[in-house]
Amino acid sequence: MRRNPPSPPTGRPLNPGDEQRPGTPQTGETLCWDCKGSGRLSGRSCPTCQGSGRVVVSVGDA
Ligand SMILES: [Zn+2]
Repeated sequence: MRRNPPSPPTGRPLNPGDEQRPGTPQTGETLCWDCKGSGRLSGRSCPTCQGSGRVVVSVGDA
């Protein structure tokens, strides 16, 4: 018997800078604070956002 591993709704893996899974209610993508959305840091892919320039954070509405 094999169990299916849990996966995010979008299938996108979490980046180190992500606070929440993509698709989670009351979350949103915002510019990465480390690379300021450029996706690069010191000439390399930003480790926080994995070069995407965006991270998923909790936004909330309460
Ligand atoms: Zn970044």
